[in-house]
Amino acid sequence: MSARLLSGKEAAAKVFDEVKSAMRAFTQPPSLAVVQVGSDPASGVYVNMKEKRCLECGIRSAVFRLPENTTETELSELISKLNSDQTIDAFLIQLPLPEHINEARMLELIRPDKDADCFHPYNFGRLAAGNPLVLPCTPAGVLVLLDHYGIEIEGKRALVIGRSNIAGKPLGLMLLARHASVTWAHSRTRNLPDLCREAELIFAAVGKPNFLTADMVSPGAVVVDVGINRVPSGDGYVLRGDVDFEAVSERASWITPVPGGVGAMTIAMLLSNCVALARARL
Ligand code: NAP
Repeated sequence: MSARLLSGKEAAAKVFDEVKSAMRAFTQPPSLAVVQVGSDPASGVYVNMKEKRCLECGIRSAVFRLPENTTETELSELISKLNSDQTIDAFLIQLPLPEHINEARMLELIRPDKDADCFHPYNFGRLAAGNPLVLPCTPAGVLVLLDHYGIEIEGKRALVIGRSNIAGKPLGLMLLARHASVTWAHSRTRNLPDLCREAELIFAAVGKPNFLTADMVSPGAVVVDVGINRVPSGDGYVLRGDVDFEAVSERASWITPVPGGVGAMTIAMLLSNCVALARARL
């Protein structure tokens, strides 16, 4: 069997079009701010890409690039400024933050109705309660991608490998809300290959290249690769997911590529969240 591709590029293009059409409802275009602390190269690439996409879609974008030695007090002052700035509809703090800054404490300072990434505990709680105000971008992108290709979720045995607050945990909650029977796996899980083979939908959010191998996948399963790993290649690096793409493609019915899969959806969902939060403020 050769799996069909779940193209994030294709599904994201549709979301970007929807964002552009939504602009008609606004007299002032919505605005999104991004705060980056330090100079993590991967974060820098994401932040530039977010800025570019905002521009293309007509969203006003503001980027605050703060030095690595920014203190918690300085960052919390900026957050409180963004919270009260009437011209900012939504914002996010690019993660990871430098180690001397307490991430959880900073995320808790964001006004929940401006929380573009759904990282505030209030928003996470609402998601868990089944009444979300805003959806976390990467998991929301996964579901939009599955829906775009008509992949059924209800009643399916779904295995999510990974339980981080950014990816695995909210993804499992959202699959549960869509009536999948969800299992989470993590580093203490026993017999992971057996669990994988029982799953009809597998979501890998581990952060280890080639983690999910073909022998762990039942024929016909749908495989979604959330992982984005920089693997050294020549003088630079290439991006690889958590899935052994070539071999798993021979067993799965559908599979996401990396790049061009889930990663392509995340920024589209961020812009979509910005529009939704701005619309709620109209
Ligand atoms: P993370 O915080 O490091 O979490 C990794 C998860 O994998 C943890 O829950 C960990 O279990 C689990 N894990 C590690 N080793 C395992 C093993 N041997 N067996 C089973 N589970 C294992 O990473 P993350 O932030 O969730 O990111 C995961 C990947 O997704 C990364 O490659 C990241 O770059 C990518 N990502 C992509 C997007 C996107 O836009 N597409 C967004 C976010 C993240 P424990 O909890 O027990 O430690």
